[in-house]
Amino acid sequence: MGFEPSDGLRETLERIREFVDEELIPLEPRLLNEGFLAVEPELAAKREKVRALGLWAPFLPQKLGGMGMRLMDFAYVSEALGRTPIGHYAFHCQAPDVGNMELLHEHGSPEQQERFLHPLARGEVRSCFAMTEPAHAGSNPVWLGTTARSDGDDYVIDGHKWFTTAADGAAFTIVMAVTDPDAEPHARASQILVPLDAPGFSLVRNVSVMGHPGGGWASHAEVRFDGVRVPKTNRIGPEGGGFMLAQARLGPGRIHHAMRWMGVCDRVFDLMCRRAASREQAPGAVLGTKQLVQAMIAESRAEIDSTRLFVLHTAEQIDRHGPFGAKNEISLIKFHAAGVLQRVIDRALQVHGALGMTDDTPIAFWYREERAARIYDGPDEVHKISVAKRILRDYGVHR
Ligand SMILES: Cc1cc2nc3c(=O)[nH]c(=O)nc-3n(C[C@H](O)[C@H](O)[C@H](O)COP(=O)(O)OP(=O)(O)OC[C@H]3O[C@@H](n4cnc5c(N)ncnc54)[C@H](O)[C@@H]3O)c2cc1C
Repeated sequence: MGFEPSDGLRETLERIREFVDEELIPLEPRLLNEGFLAVEPELAAKREKVRALGLWAPFLPQKLGGMGMRLMDFAYVSEALGRTPIGHYAFHCQAPDVGNMELLHEHGSPEQQERFLHPLARGEVRSCFAMTEPAHAGSNPVWLGTTARSDGDDYVIDGHKWFTTAADGAAFTIVMAVTDPDAEPHARASQILVPLDAPGFSLVRNVSVMGHPGGGWASHAEVRFDGVRVPKTNRIGPEGGGFMLAQARLGPGRIHHAMRWMGVCDRVFDLMCRRAASREQAPGAVLGTKQLVQAMIAESRAEIDSTRLFVLHTAEQIDRHGPFGAKNEISLIKFHAAGVLQRVIDRALQVHGALGMTDDTPIAFWYREERAARIYDGPDEVHKISVAKRILRDYGVHR
């Protein structure tokens, strides 16, 4: 497996890396110490600069104002942007908006695209995705308590969700709700667009995550739908197609995440090496002369390089065969890359000692935030089970 970006892409990546280093990384101290809302106004100006440079929304089709990249090329971009926690946001390819834009572009009706996708693509509004519920295991996506009851030309939605990332300040959500409780499990739910100013919708709180409730885009909300009425034309795709759409959304989404994680690894690895090369453990003897530190550096490099190739291979498979043709690879990289990410961040933190625990570097931020990588978009165990089951089918094991 060998992958090289084209010359054109290489030049784009250079420009992106330069922007990240010169315009975004300098915002990190305030982001890390004062939170996302403190840097949001400056980030808005950076987003305009990105747009003026022609680097806006790399994955979006050109007719929607993006760069029209295929998944494989966007994977490299995602890695370059992942080197800072605000890279994807600045280039308008942040989760969960990126997934919502892809979904609406692929499956939205012309009316839905006009009303919801176009303002989102232009960056005028933000959005969120409400699937997970406090009362039901998110790892079983066909088991939901939220319902969308048919009432003439409308749906009336009732339910309780949480971990609705970026709901704070968003203009709309895509909610996963049961439209036919009697259908077979995978055909019970639909995805429905809900403006967040609709009567009956409420944001209960931004959930405090490891001590940080966050704010705006960088938050995870608990939300309620109490008799929220929307027209049936707000349903995306066919009735009962919610699960299928969720799967279609998550395949490429996992590449976005996994390559972003490789960008995080790249940055913390660099910080680890710099610290190892500069921190004297005794006069004249830097940490990098200690073999146990050298082992951490070698293990990290091996894990990052091998995982990166695997993620690129998966992106190529999705470009060629679609997300359903690369099911195994997608599940494998999801849990494997998340584990590598966690181990590399942990080693970088360890090498920094007490400094690693502070917010003077982004390592502690990622240590905290990216623990979730092993949980969201399918916990490790679920991916391991589904890959192993598919493998074992060839050996006659069918349970
Ligand atoms: C930071 C963050 C952001 C998120 N953003 C969103 C969002 O924007 N929208 C949204 O809808 N959701 C979001 N989520 C929710 C996420 O998708 C769910 O947390 C995830 O699907 C797991 O569901 P759960 O939390 O209910 O865990 P549960 O389903 O209760 O599972 C708990 C644990 O049980 C284990 N487990 C599960 N199944 C099995 C099994 N079959 N065998 C063995 N062990 C198993 C796993 O270790 C799992 O972590 C987010 C979560 C986090 C942490």
